[in-house]
Amino acid sequence: MTNSIADNIGSVTRRIQKATMAAGRKPGAVRLLAVSKTRSPGEIRVAASEGLHAFGENYLQEALDKMAALQDLPELEWHFIGPIQSNKTRAIAEHFDWVHSVDRLKIAKRLSEQRPDALPALNICIQVNVDDEDSKAGCTLNDLPELARQIAALPRLCLRGLMAIPDPSQSDAHLKRSFQTLAQALETLQEELPEVETLDTLSMGMSSDLELAIDKGATWVRVGTALFGERPAKS
Ligand SMILES: *Cc1c(COP(=O)(O)O)cnc(C)c1O
Repeated sequence: MTNSIADNIGSVTRRIQKATMAAGRKPGAVRLLAVSKTRSPGEIRVAASEGLHAFGENYLQEALDKMAALQDLPELEWHFIGPIQSNKTRAIAEHFDWVHSVDRLKIAKRLSEQRPDALPALNICIQVNVDDEDSKAGCTLNDLPELARQIAALPRLCLRGLMAIPDPSQSDAHLKRSFQTLAQALETLQEELPEVETLDTLSMGMSSDLELAIDKGATWVRVGTALFGERPAKS
């Protein structure tokens, strides 16, 4: 049998603490985003009862259904981490606390326009294509400074930092380079946009490579499989 969610949370938390210490970073510098795509409201409930409160979802309708089923847990924080089509921005702006996967201005503008006034500004990470593969989502390093400047000027968004999904099947050396590239890009942005005081976030690292990401400065690691077990094939 596979381990329980509670056991898995314990071991992932220890991995994060160990890697944070090994990197000489402050305890608590790295937060755990539980990636709950394909997982049931019941599984999220168990994870919440074990102390997790930030959950990452990739598919809008699935996420909305779970939020409705978990309305009695208002302390949960929801992060959208999947590809975003224009027709999904309104529901994302209305229901999420963070979006990690913004990679073009059109989407950012819509999220800003559609963010309800009653809610705080929506936290945004720009997804960067650090591997520079044509097929993958994410803005290029070249386009990043201009996109960041434009997003920082949008009234209902709060630009927090950068996100990347380097292919976890790459070698450790390759992954380290990719994480380092993202960390360097954030530093450059902080220098170029000193007026944006909220640029403190690097969303990088997943189940199999979170130690490498933490070593390079991750502040959110996005972990699914190591918490909830292998995902069922998506139907
Ligand atoms: C699914 C997913 C994860 C989690 O991946 P695991 O390998 O299961 O930890 C992290 N980030 C994004 C963007 C994902 O889609």
